[in-house]
Amino acid sequence: MFPPFTLRYSRLPERFFAPFDPVPVTSPRLVAFNRPLARELGFDLEAFDGEEAAVWFSGNVVPPGAEPLAQAYAGHQFGGFVPRLGDGRAVLLGEVTDREGRLRDIQLKGAGCTPFSRGGDGRAPLGPVLREYLVSEAMHAMGIPTTRALAAVTTGERVVRGIPEPGAILTRVAASHIRVGTFQYFAARGDTDAVRELADHVVSRHYPELGKLSGNERYLALIQAIQARQAALVARWMGVGFIHGVMNTDNTTVSGETIDYGPCAFMETYDPGTVFSSIDEGGRYAYSNQPWIAQWNLARLAETLLPLIDSDPERAVERATELIQAYPAQYETEWLAVMRAKLGLTLEDGGDQRLVESLQEAMHQGHADFTLTFRQLCECAHSSAGDAALIELFEHPEGIEAWLARWRERLSREPATPAERARQMRRVNPLYIPRNHRVQQALTAAMDEDDFTPFEALLAVVTRPFEEQPGREAYTLPASPRERVFRTFCGT
Ligand code: AMP
Ligand code: MG
Repeated sequence: MFPPFTLRYSRLPERFFAPFDPVPVTSPRLVAFNRPLARELGFDLEAFDGEEAAVWFSGNVVPPGAEPLAQAYAGHQFGGFVPRLGDGRAVLLGEVTDREGRLRDIQLKGAGCTPFSRGGDGRAPLGPVLREYLVSEAMHAMGIPTTRALAAVTTGERVVRGIPEPGAILTRVAASHIRVGTFQYFAARGDTDAVRELADHVVSRHYPELGKLSGNERYLALIQAIQARQAALVARWMGVGFIHGVMNTDNTTVSGETIDYGPCAFMETYDPGTVFSSIDEGGRYAYSNQPWIAQWNLARLAETLLPLIDSDPERAVERATELIQAYPAQYETEWLAVMRAKLGLTLEDGGDQRLVESLQEAMHQGHADFTLTFRQLCECAHSSAGDAALIELFEHPEGIEAWLARWRERLSREPATPAERARQMRRVNPLYIPRNHRVQQALTAAMDEDDFTPFEALLAVVTRPFEEQPGREAYTLPASPRERVFRTFCGT
């Protein structure tokens, strides 16, 4: 069933990982399987059998050719450095080459205690597994770079998180699982050879065009390239109101994919200070902080590469700092591009940034729903018949009415016809996002009643985020006051 493995990470020096076979579970049951992704990865689905798949995706049997391992990494968690984290419950089976020739990691998350488990039990509860499944697939459907969910199995075992919960394992697919924290792990040990080897591996895997550069130029360019992808990624998050929740350096990939959906959530009512995660007490990872946290994380990455940048430490710091200081401008450019597209603007105008900011102010003051505001703007772009429904979303009409007039004036300088503009805007402004209360309902039904219908229904809706789906209107709605979710939990 599995495509052949093309092993790469397991060929790196031994200190990069601990060889580790998944710990078998009692009675694996396949509860979700991503056929389109399996096809993309080259799985043989002709004789697909759910029971057999459960055995593979639980790790009860290691697929032929895999060399399972737990990766070593460190990380800054909420600003504090932990020199040894590593995969405490995830096992990398290996890489496969997908239909497009790209190398993809296949990892089982929740596969048992590894040498990096510290105090943890090595397992994952069903709730967080399904949350990651739903949100990562929704992100992918919105065109945002992310790790993917290939399968979810329940284990037949209970994991205790305050109360006993059903255990589960997520099969996660990623361009790679290499993080800023992977670099930090070796840098913290003064192991410059390993940092170089890791950097070269990352270049060959994610940035092959940099392979032709030699010496320090390659590593400077690597920082720049990773920075460019992170800037673009976070701009995309901001464009859909996504709040990651735990932007620690160990949860920041060097491939530019979103990873580790813990207490993540989508903002409903627009408020730049929104925080959902119960563990983020200081609001470090609030919505509006995300771009600057990404920069902070990139500075931590650059620090690990200093010895490769220049033998003179001061000169190395100077050169790295120069790169990192370019981030705000890079980010602003990415963000503005995202927001322009959301507003149907194809030309660039010096006033565009102010235009976006004043919409944000109106949304904030009017307590408007982020997703619905932009989606309704697609209708307003088509004709002013959409205005009433837009204004309905705001508690006070003044701000948004004034803004609409400014926007229309700006649109009058755009070449597209209103119909064409509305069509383009509907391709970037999702109608369906995994709203927190819906996610919560889906998880609760699965955990408490072993009922996966709400999960499947929600997944079907959020993986076609831009398309109107008749009969699914309720999924577009924000939570009622009774349903509202204010806090999300890692639940790890
Ligand atoms: P996360 O919060 O999932 O990004 O994980 C942070 C660190 O804690 C990583 O090193 C994980 O491998 C580890 N970890 C999280 N949950 C568990 C668990 N249940 N058992 C062992 N290690 C864990
Ligand atoms: Mg993590």
